[in-house]
Amino acid sequence: MDYQELWKAALGEIELAVPRPSFITWFKETSVSGISEGTITIAVPNGFAKEWLQSKYNKFIIRALRNVTEDKVREITYVIGKYPQGSVENKPKERSPKTRPLVSPNDEMQLKDLQVNPETGLNPRYTFENFIVGSFNELANGAARAVVQNLGLAYNPLFIFGGVGLGKTHLIQAIGNEVIKNHGSKVRCVTSEKYMGEIVEALSNQTINQLKERYRKVDLLIMDDIQFIARTEKMQEEFFHTFNVLYQQNKQIIISSDRPPSAIPTLESRLRSRFEGGCLIDIGEPDFETRVTILKAKANEKGIFLPEDVILHTAAVIKNNIRELEGALARLTLSARATSLPPTLEETKKILEQVTQAPKKFTSPKKVIRVVSDFYEIAEKELINPSRRKEIVKPRQIAMYILREELKCSYPFIGEKLGKKDHTTAIHACKKIDREMKTNADLQNEIKLIKEKIYSV
Ligand code: ADP
Ligand code: MG
Repeated sequence: MDYQELWKAALGEIELAVPRPSFITWFKETSVSGISEGTITIAVPNGFAKEWLQSKYNKFIIRALRNVTEDKVREITYVIGKYPQGSVENKPKERSPKTRPLVSPNDEMQLKDLQVNPETGLNPRYTFENFIVGSFNELANGAARAVVQNLGLAYNPLFIFGGVGLGKTHLIQAIGNEVIKNHGSKVRCVTSEKYMGEIVEALSNQTINQLKERYRKVDLLIMDDIQFIARTEKMQEEFFHTFNVLYQQNKQIIISSDRPPSAIPTLESRLRSRFEGGCLIDIGEPDFETRVTILKAKANEKGIFLPEDVILHTAAVIKNNIRELEGALARLTLSARATSLPPTLEETKKILEQVTQAPKKFTSPKKVIRVVSDFYEIAEKELINPSRRKEIVKPRQIAMYILREELKCSYPFIGEKLGKKDHTTAIHACKKIDREMKTNADLQNEIKLIKEKIYSV
C-alpha cells in the first residue's frame, strides 16, 4: 500500500469515530508523508492543526493506522507540510463495507446540522417552549430567562456547566433564539471546537481580522463546550481578547462546559477569573418525577402514546440524562411504529435492556487509564510508571478507584498496573476516593464525567 492509499483507508476509519464537523475541519489537507520503524509521519497544513490533532485525535489516528497496517505503529509524528495536490480527498467517499456500520451516527448528526443557521449558529429546534424545567435545572433556567430580559446586564458572563445530555446546549441556544425573536439582536453561537477551526482557516486565508470583527460586533456571544478551549494557547488568547472587547461594551457572553472553570486543566488563570467573576450555575440530573414528565412531554411531541407502566419503567431505568431518555423513547417509538401498537411493559423491558447494557462491555483497564489521563491532561505513562509528581497522585487514585468500582479488578492488579504499587496502596486509594466522594460534589462530578467517557465509544 502506498502512503496515500494507507491514509485514505485510515481516514475512512477515523471518519466513523469523530464528529463530522471536526473531521472536516481537522483532517482536510492532511497526508502521510513518511513511515519508518513504527513511526508514521503525518503532514498537516499548519501549527494549530498540528497541536489539535496531537492533543485531541492522536489516539483515533493511531488506532486507525494500526487497524489498516499490518506493521506495528508505535508513534505518530506531526509535521507542518504541503498537502500533495490531487491525492487524498477531504472526505473519503468509499469505505470498505467491513467498516461501515448499518446506521452511521454521523448521518443523524448531519440531518440535525442542516437546521443550523450558518449566520448565527443557532438551531431553531431549541426553544424555551420545549425546554422542561424541574428542580435539577430551575436555577439555570431562571438565570437564562433573566439574561434574555436584561441582555448584558444581569449575569455576565453566564457560565452553565453539567454532565453530558443534561440540556446545556438546548438552554443556551434557546436564549439565543429568544433574544433574536424579542429584540432582533445580533447573536453568534459556536462550539469551542468550531471556533478553533475558524481560527485555523482564517489564519491560512489571512482573514483573521474579518473573523475578529465578526465576533466582536455581536450583542450576544454563546460559546458551547468551552472545556476544549484550554487545549491551545492561541485560542485562549483570541477568545480572551474578544471576551474583553464584548464585556467592556456590556455585551452578553454565555458559556457552557462539562465542568466548572476550576476543573478545566490548563485554563489560563486570567480566563478562569473572568468566568468566575460572572454567574456560575450547574445543571444536575433530573429526578424520577422529572424524568416521567420529560418522557410524557416528548412522547406527546412525537405524537405517540405510551402506557403509564411503560413510562414509569423507562424513567426508573434510564437515569443518567435527557439524551438517553430521548434515545430510549426513539427505540420505543420504533417498536410502536413497527407493530402499530404501543409497546407492552414486557417488550419495553427487553428493548431497554439492550440500551442500558450495551455500553458496559466496551471498557477495559487500558481504556480507563487512557480516559483518566486524557481528562487530567497528563501522559498515560505517568499514571503507569512509578512517578511521584504531585499532580499525578489524584488522577492515579481516581483511576484506581474506577478500576475497582467499574471493572472489579483485584487490588494487587490495580497496584501493579498503576505505578507498580503494592495492594495496600490501591486499597488506601480506593477508600480515600470513596470517602471524599461522599462530601465533595466536584469530585463526584469529575468521576461521573470520566465514567461517561469510559463507556462512550
Ligand atoms: P448537553 O449540551 O448538556 O450535552 P443537550 O442540550 O444537547 O445536552 O441535550 C440533549 C438532548 O436532550 C437534546 O435533544 C435536548 O433537546 C434534550 N433536552 C435536554 N434538556 C432538556 C429539557 N430540560 N427539556 C427538554 N429537552 C431537553
Ligand atoms: Mg452540548
